[in-house]
Amino acid sequence: MKIAIIGAGFGGMAAAYDLKKAGNEVIIYESADYVGGLASGFKEPHWDWSVEKFYHHWFQSDKYMLELIRELGWEDKVIFPRPLTVMYHKGKFYPFDSILRALLFPGLGFGLDKIRFGFVGLFLRLTNNWKALEKVTADSWMLKWAGKNVYEKMWKPLLVGKFGPFYRDVNMAWMWARIKARTTRLGTFEGGFQNFANMFAENLRSMGVEIRLGARVESIKREQDKLSVKSDGGSLSFDKVLVTTSPNLMAKLSPDLPENYLKGLLELKSMGAVVMVLSLKHQLSKEGYYWFNLPKKAGYPMLALVEHTNFVPKEHFGGDHIVYAGDYLEVGHEYFSMSDEQLLERFTPVFKKFNSAFERDWVKKVWVNKTSYAQPVPLVNHSKNIPAIQTPIEGLYFASMSQVYPWDRGTNFAVEIGRRAARMMLSGNQRG
Ligand SMILES: Cc1cc2nc3c(=O)[nH]c(=O)nc-3n(C[C@H](O)[C@H](O)[C@H](O)COP(=O)(O)OP(=O)(O)OC[C@H]3O[C@@H](n4cnc5c(N)ncnc54)[C@H](O)[C@@H]3O)c2cc1C
Repeated sequence: MKIAIIGAGFGGMAAAYDLKKAGNEVIIYESADYVGGLASGFKEPHWDWSVEKFYHHWFQSDKYMLELIRELGWEDKVIFPRPLTVMYHKGKFYPFDSILRALLFPGLGFGLDKIRFGFVGLFLRLTNNWKALEKVTADSWMLKWAGKNVYEKMWKPLLVGKFGPFYRDVNMAWMWARIKARTTRLGTFEGGFQNFANMFAENLRSMGVEIRLGARVESIKREQDKLSVKSDGGSLSFDKVLVTTSPNLMAKLSPDLPENYLKGLLELKSMGAVVMVLSLKHQLSKEGYYWFNLPKKAGYPMLALVEHTNFVPKEHFGGDHIVYAGDYLEVGHEYFSMSDEQLLERFTPVFKKFNSAFERDWVKKVWVNKTSYAQPVPLVNHSKNIPAIQTPIEGLYFASMSQVYPWDRGTNFAVEIGRRAARMMLSGNQRG
């Protein structure tokens, strides 16, 4: 078969790997001039490693990602340092990355609330019945079972931070998936995620996959027994096509899809993200904290502050200290239209709360990354609204972050759905 894949993110490349191995001719179209998609990174001339545009790490439970890396023979390049994640309480930050540390966290006191917090966490870790949990919102379930105090202190800030105005609408299966599928140990690839993406792309090329960079696909149309893919470089015919973009873009690329499928794509909700990367002259968190969970209520202008060089040594970045300040936002939010300078003015005043010695002249350079498609929003009974991987147009397949549900999006699940889509394309006529 001759197959086109739209998108050289982790999902598209994982699908290409299996489709090529099965003996097909595969062409990947990628509109950017680099591979890696949302997990891509960039590098300054004096850095050995790249920095992800949006903070990224793997969990030890990311089995699809780690399995793929093992198949490629690169498991010795995966490292799992032990970075520290901290929670805010009354102006201070407390490590929160083990059961013991959760027990010692003063934010919940040391009585009934802590017991409820523990039991709810244990229940969610043990149950597999996410179908029951998707029928209710995380807001109502947590209020009922964890109680008002635990919910407001621990879970509500996470929901508000990630989903803003939709925080009350997100279903409980999303929360379950986060607790179920995540570990406190966090990993990365030597050289950064971009290094993995580049090595993977090189491997695909050596297998015979053609990767067309800077090739934006404009439309996909059924023409007799083939699918015609039109890009800025002209049109080509394929037996099968896999699209790995956002649902919105999929709807634009293939307007001939039946109305109910298109409607399903367009009704999916998602949040965008604005993430600033800063290189600093000095370490921000003297305690060596990696990830600060920040409650909006306490006046922080971002959801997370992440000191990357408290996870990966600064020596990989020529001694620069790399810090992220990021937030999940609706696309109309002011951060999307603010200049880098304006965002810097908004973010840096609170840096003194992480290190009172911080001065503006610590900032060497700033990069701002924005995406309109960062985090799908799963509403109640979301499983009924997921678009099928095999679309109603014969030979046309769609695999995106919005379809990995009940799991939360991530490169691990991009690999899983990419490979699942490849299996379906190889076996012909299943629906998924
Ligand atoms: C802020 C943030 C933090 C994250 N943190 C983590 C994390 O810590 N760990 C983790 O594992 N994951 C994380 N993720 C999620 C992870 O980045 C995604 O789940 C994963 O990269 C999705 O891969 P994909 O291949 O499905 O899609 P994408 O990476 O979006 O790939 C789609 C590709 O299609 C291309 N494309 C779009 N339109 C066209 C067109 N018309 N023609 C040709 N090409 C086109 C795009 O350029 C892109 O390269 C995070 C994401 C964000 C936004």
